[in-house]
Amino acid sequence: MKPSVKSDFPIFDDSDLVYLDNASTTQKPQQVLDAIHSMYSKTNANVHRALYDIGSEATEKFENSRKKVSNFIHSESESEIIFTGGTTESLNLLSHSLGNKLGPEDDILVSEMEHHANLVPWQMACGRTGANLKFIPMNENGDLDLTNLETTFTDSTKIISITHVSNVLGTINPISEIAKIAKEIGAIFIVDGAQGVPHQSVDVKKLGCDFYVFSGHKMLAPTGVGILWGRMENLEHMDPFMGGGEMIETVTMESSTWNQVPYKFEAGTPNFVQAVGLGAAIDYLNDLGMDEVFEHEKKLTEYALEKMSHIEKVNVFGSPKRRTGVISFNVDGIHAQDLAQFLNEDNIAIRVGHHCAQPLLSRLDENSVARLSLYIYNDEKDIDLFCNSLANIKQYF
Ligand SMILES: *Cc1c(COP(=O)(O)O)cnc(C)c1O
Repeated sequence: MKPSVKSDFPIFDDSDLVYLDNASTTQKPQQVLDAIHSMYSKTNANVHRALYDIGSEATEKFENSRKKVSNFIHSESESEIIFTGGTTESLNLLSHSLGNKLGPEDDILVSEMEHHANLVPWQMACGRTGANLKFIPMNENGDLDLTNLETTFTDSTKIISITHVSNVLGTINPISEIAKIAKEIGAIFIVDGAQGVPHQSVDVKKLGCDFYVFSGHKMLAPTGVGILWGRMENLEHMDPFMGGGEMIETVTMESSTWNQVPYKFEAGTPNFVQAVGLGAAIDYLNDLGMDEVFEHEKKLTEYALEKMSHIEKVNVFGSPKRRTGVISFNVDGIHAQDLAQFLNEDNIAIRVGHHCAQPLLSRLDENSVARLSLYIYNDEKDIDLFCNSLANIKQYF
């Protein structure tokens, strides 16, 4: 990674902040802040409606961002890109539009390592429809246990929804492999890409899934914008989730018809400013190159794991086959909460808690773990400072 990356992020100006909580949210480069500022200060007008100059410019920028997202994940066309509020909203949309079609004979399959955003909406869908929630267990290493394929994937499995990358252990799941099985049994396959697409090059067609969802704020973009990608033939057959302006074609007092995809799923004034911010974030990541991003984090993860292994009483959870820069750990005899507070004294930001993945934490037999998570602006110096601080804590307690 070029050394100038950190200097693009104003939050690090004149600050000794060591930010290692990127799985929660990422910092924003000046380029993204400029895009947002320019949108509000130069071309602020509601999109798709105005017939005056700044309205057309806002619409053009918004739709151009849709193209950028489409190219970034290699989808067939920008019409397959739906702007949502984030991963959580995308998954709720799917749990309604797809989940509501299920009945008591049908199963929804998730995994033991899901973020609550990819679990609770499916529990709610099961509550509405009588469908059954099943899960793929996780093994000791923190990989999905795909040894009992026949009992896990059955003719009753109608929807499979799995995370691309674990937000606790960094496990990269074998998405293409699961996609093949999904196809064989005729199930719809959804991938939660919140920790996937920010950290590696993603080609939704090659992955072979039916839907892929993610959040802007975990990949340098503002909060309040996320993506739902789906194949056109699936999106065309789905009911809308929310009703309102923009998503209709005609409305009478009695009934309405729907706008074409993607607008059918974008009720109300869209988050066009945030969407343009996401476009700028994608430009920034493309300039770095996603393969470069992946390699940078890979090296830094190896560096961190190696250094942490030499600190006494530090235990890292999981050793997945393929992983990203999300590392959960604890220190014998020190509560995770105390750990985070102590690190904060040195201006080092990590996260502690259940990380919105309580079933996974139960599997680890823990209530709370500490987690560091890396991104493009982190470097070996950050890891050194973190490890020094960690070593000092032990002397203190
Ligand atoms: C953060 C995260 C989510 C939820 O994303 P929001 O932006 O909070 O909607 C879902 N899944 C995973 C794996 C995540 O890391």
